Amino acid sequence: MFAVEINDVSFSYDGKNNVLHNVSFSIEAGNYIAIVGHNGSGKSTLSKLILGLLEAKQGTIRVFGQELNEKTVRQIRQQVGIVFQNPDNQFIGSTVRDDIAFGLENRCIPHEEMEPLITYYAQKVNMLEHLDKEPSHLSGGQKQRVAIAGVLAMHPQMMIFDEATVMLDPKGRKEMDALVQEMRKEHPDLTILSITHDIEEASRADKVIIMDQGKVFAYGSPKEVLSDEKMLKDIDLKMPFLMELSAALQKQGISVDSHASFDEMVVSVCPSD
Ligand code: ADP
Repeated sequence: MFAVEINDVSFSYDGKNNVLHNVSFSIEAGNYIAIVGHNGSGKSTLSKLILGLLEAKQGTIRVFGQELNEKTVRQIRQQVGIVFQNPDNQFIGSTVRDDIAFGLENRCIPHEEMEPLITYYAQKVNMLEHLDKEPSHLSGGQKQRVAIAGVLAMHPQMMIFDEATVMLDPKGRKEMDALVQEMRKEHPDLTILSITHDIEEASRADKVIIMDQGKVFAYGSPKEVLSDEKMLKDIDLKMPFLMELSAALQKQGISVDSHASFDEMVVSVCPSD
């Protein structure tokens, strides 16, 4: 079962210049996918297309087997939750409680049945003692945890994190990371698509998609993506990215020298370095 099937999708904001070019890939349900790539390579646009916030100019998108179109977009949005980069832009309720309740309303849970569920989701993200606080009084990490609780309350089959930790301090990032790992343990069927610059995170994903100039540049396991010598030669990503990825993989005991030593790869990619 595929969570997402993207087939030959192109997209432009101005009707002239495509920012995505003939993108095709599929994501298996239950997988944790990290999307990495330069700023402007089309990662966010892709996530908005999957949610039906933008409409593809060409190609088809299927989400859990259903083709995305005007008729299906509402239903698909109930299956896919998104946590954005800026925690301040995603609060709907005036308190943490309201915000989680909103996710439940989306599932048409009657008001009288909400309280234990609000407690349940607040506990999940370690925010139980903050239920009556206004989101503006919370730290960035706490805000993102509440956003996750609101999305989890919707019972999504898939979650998209669009650089959701980028504005957090290292402590907030660590907490989010732990929370996502816990979520995966509890919901092994949950598909996660994470747009990230966090190399450690990418190295732990089931698959990594590298976007480059509106195209899928590489798609494979973290090990495959890194150890493909040809891809490394072609790649446009800066070397520090690859070095960090290599170090992160090695930390997990994954060797990256299937074709060459990392030093040799560096030489082959950046001879002038
Ligand atoms: P990424 O998420 O990889 O940083 P984006 O998907 O945000 O990339 O952007 C892809 C391209 O689309 C970039 O060239 C960006 O300038 C352009 N773009 C993004 N959002 C808009 C918008 N709302 N209107 C016009 N162009 C946009």
